[in-house]
Amino acid sequence: MDAMLKASTTGIVAEETLDPVDWTEVQVLSHRIVDEAVGYLRDVRERPVWQDMPAEVKAFFAAPLPRSPQPLAQVCGEVTEKVMAYPMGNIHPRFWSWYMGSSNFTGALGDFLAAIQGSNLGGGNHAAALMDSQVVDWCKQMMGFPQSASGTLVSGGSMANIIGLTVARNTKAGIDVREHGVAAIDKPLRFYGSDQLHSCHRKAMEALGLGNQALRRIPTDAGLRIDISALRAAIAEDRKAGFRPACVIGTAGTVNTGAIDDLQALAELAAQEDLWFHVDGCIGALIAIAPENSHRVAGIEHAHSVALDPHKWLHAPFEVGCALIRDAASHRNTFAVTPEYLESTPRGLASGHWLHDYGLQTSRGFRALKVWMALKEHGIEKFGRLIDQNIAQGHYLSTLIEAEPLLELVAPANINIVCFRYRGDETSGERQKALNTEIMLRLQEEGIAALSDTTVHGQHCLRVAINNHRTRREDLDLLVRETVRIGQEISRAGVALPSPLVGEGGREAAG
Ligand SMILES: *Cc1c(COP(=O)(O)O)cnc(C)c1O
Repeated sequence: MDAMLKASTTGIVAEETLDPVDWTEVQVLSHRIVDEAVGYLRDVRERPVWQDMPAEVKAFFAAPLPRSPQPLAQVCGEVTEKVMAYPMGNIHPRFWSWYMGSSNFTGALGDFLAAIQGSNLGGGNHAAALMDSQVVDWCKQMMGFPQSASGTLVSGGSMANIIGLTVARNTKAGIDVREHGVAAIDKPLRFYGSDQLHSCHRKAMEALGLGNQALRRIPTDAGLRIDISALRAAIAEDRKAGFRPACVIGTAGTVNTGAIDDLQALAELAAQEDLWFHVDGCIGALIAIAPENSHRVAGIEHAHSVALDPHKWLHAPFEVGCALIRDAASHRNTFAVTPEYLESTPRGLASGHWLHDYGLQTSRGFRALKVWMALKEHGIEKFGRLIDQNIAQGHYLSTLIEAEPLLELVAPANINIVCFRYRGDETSGERQKALNTEIMLRLQEEGIAALSDTTVHGQHCLRVAINNHRTRREDLDLLVRETVRIGQEISRAGVALPSPLVGEGGREAAG
């Protein structure tokens, strides 16, 4: 020991660190990276939405574990060339696939600074932990939840739903599930949601040990909203058959068509039937802040739990989701465990409460900063207006489609999701599907626009989800023009259409 101390004071032991040898060099390089990043975002509209990678780029990612060092400038060069050039495309103004946000520069700065500070949001007495709780408080305010409610920031909507459904299970099980497990529940629990539920709920039911069959899918009406009387009948039937109805999941904005269940009616039904009322608001919960459309999610404030997704309509860089639980005690009672090495102290770093007591993670990233900075910069009203803008754009696109004889709407346009198809002369459903799939692929491959497809009430269609603060109406005009052009080209050439890769049987919505 003495020898070691002596050695270190005399400088014989040269400890290593990950810090740069030359900070000035890193500073110069970093400035260049920031300049490139600004240009990258500023000029995004000029680039193709998406392009496939050449074989050489794909092969690059099969390189084995690096053993020897390489200059940072070279590493960054590889990122520019091999990664930044081949994005998914969701920051592009004409990206409308699936359902995701389009990020923002301030949020990216937030992610950078969060990583620079490097704090662990498992909890503790430091500023980032207070900010994490503050962002949860802001989410409560956006949803009209009471200040006494609880919540946590998680990786995204899927995890936020799992948090809500876990609290629902534990609260409604009638036994101490944490101690005895689901096998000890006397009557099998039943959860309910519409046949338009997102696939994450199935995964949640499986992970919770309740099983997929414990989640009853209730039929939807013509507007693809849960059929309330069918739900009531299913609950009565289940009670009679010896099940324990525990939870109803309302969806505020389905992935397929953006349908919003009647949340007010679900809240009333849940109260009458003594069920937990969870809202999957990954798409639409934030409509609550949009002045022209907030009426669509009336009733959300009565939920016992809500999952919302700031990386969708707040455009935070991935990842950040938020689970809110009205009854803070039931939230804490579901997850809190205090091991001896994480006991709180009256003062110091370990005072205050541990944020890991509200979910499944122990170490947690500093997700709050990117949300906090963008909310402060723009103010909540702007985010509300952007949501209204996307919904208006959805309606605008619907009118363009209605005015174009070669296109037709396949589902009623609710919010910002538009389902439509190219008509063509194809007689069979399979060939219609192949034609529309081919149009979608060419739109992607020509770098024009990214859309996805789905099947609504048995009908295959193209699907545009405008969750994008960069989209302009002229982009939607272009989409309609190009869809028609490509559709006509394919029809005229009488191209042999490839058969679709997979049938729709059993495929669930994925966002
Ligand atoms: C996106 C989405 C999810 C899943 O959220 P992630 O953030 O992708 O994990 C769940 N439900 C709905 C309705 C969604 O749109």
